[in-house]
Amino acid sequence: ASSELRYKRVVLKLSGESLADAGGRGLSSQEMGDIARQIKLAHESGCQIAIVIGGGNILRGASFSGSNALVQEATAHYMGMLATVINSLAMQDSLETLGLSTRVMSAVPMEKIAETFIRRRALRHLNKGRIVILAAGIGNPFVTTDTAAAQRALELDADVVLKATRVDGVYSDDPEKNPHAVLYETLTYDQVTEKKLRVMDATAIALCQEHGKPIVVFNFKRDGTIVKAVSGENVGTCISA
Ligand code: UDP
Repeated sequence: ASSELRYKRVVLKLSGESLADAGGRGLSSQEMGDIARQIKLAHESGCQIAIVIGGGNILRGASFSGSNALVQEATAHYMGMLATVINSLAMQDSLETLGLSTRVMSAVPMEKIAETFIRRRALRHLNKGRIVILAAGIGNPFVTTDTAAAQRALELDADVVLKATRVDGVYSDDPEKNPHAVLYETLTYDQVTEKKLRVMDATAIALCQEHGKPIVVFNFKRDGTIVKAVSGENVGTCISA
C-alpha cells in the first residue's frame, strides 16, 4: 500500500442498520462509537468525508407502506427520510464526542435541527475539514439513500462512493446461504447489472456508471477497514468501468 492518500474526498454510505446492534433496530451506542472511532482515524489521514446515512434501522418507505394500509407509499418515504435525520443527529454527537467538527445538512429544510443542504456550502465545510453528514437523502420520495450517496458523490465531486456493509464485498450469491459463493475483487457496472448483483439500488448504479464514479463495497465491521478504504487500499469489491 502506498502512503500517498488515494482519495481526496469520499462519500461514505452507512446504512441505518450499521448503527444498530447486528440484525437489530434502533441505535446502539456501541456500534455508533465503533464507527465514529473509525471515521476519526480516516479523517486524520487527511481525507475529506461526507457521510450519507440511511434509515432502515427505523423505517424504510417501501416496506412500511407494504405493511401499513393506512399510509400512502409517498408518505412512508417521507417518514423514512425523517428516520435518516434521527440517525444523522445521533452520528453527529458520536463524532463530536471524539473532538471532530461536523455539520448535519438536510435535504429537507429543518432549520431548528440542521443546516439545509446547499452544494457550495457543503463544499466549504469539507474544505475546512468538517465532516458533513447528509440527512434526508435527496429529499424526494421513491428513492433510497444509496441513490442519495451516488447523487451527492457526483455533485460534491467525491473520488469514490464507499458503501459500508456487514459482508466483505459483493459475492456471486448470498454467502450465508451458498457456501460456494465467491467474493469479487473487481466488477464492472455492466457485470453488476447483468448478474443482478445486489450492490446498491439500480438508480445509484446507473448514476455512477454514467459519470464514471467508482463504488467500493466493504465490511466496516472489520476493524480498520474504513481507514483502509479511504486510503485506497484493496478492501472488498471495487466497481468501475
Ligand atoms: N428515502 C427517500 N428519499 C431519499 C432517501 C431515503 O424517500 O432520498 C426514504 C426511503 O423510504 C428509504 C428510507 O428513506 O427506504 C430510509 O433510507 P434507506 O432505505 O436508504 O436506508 P438504509 O437501507 O440505508 O438504512
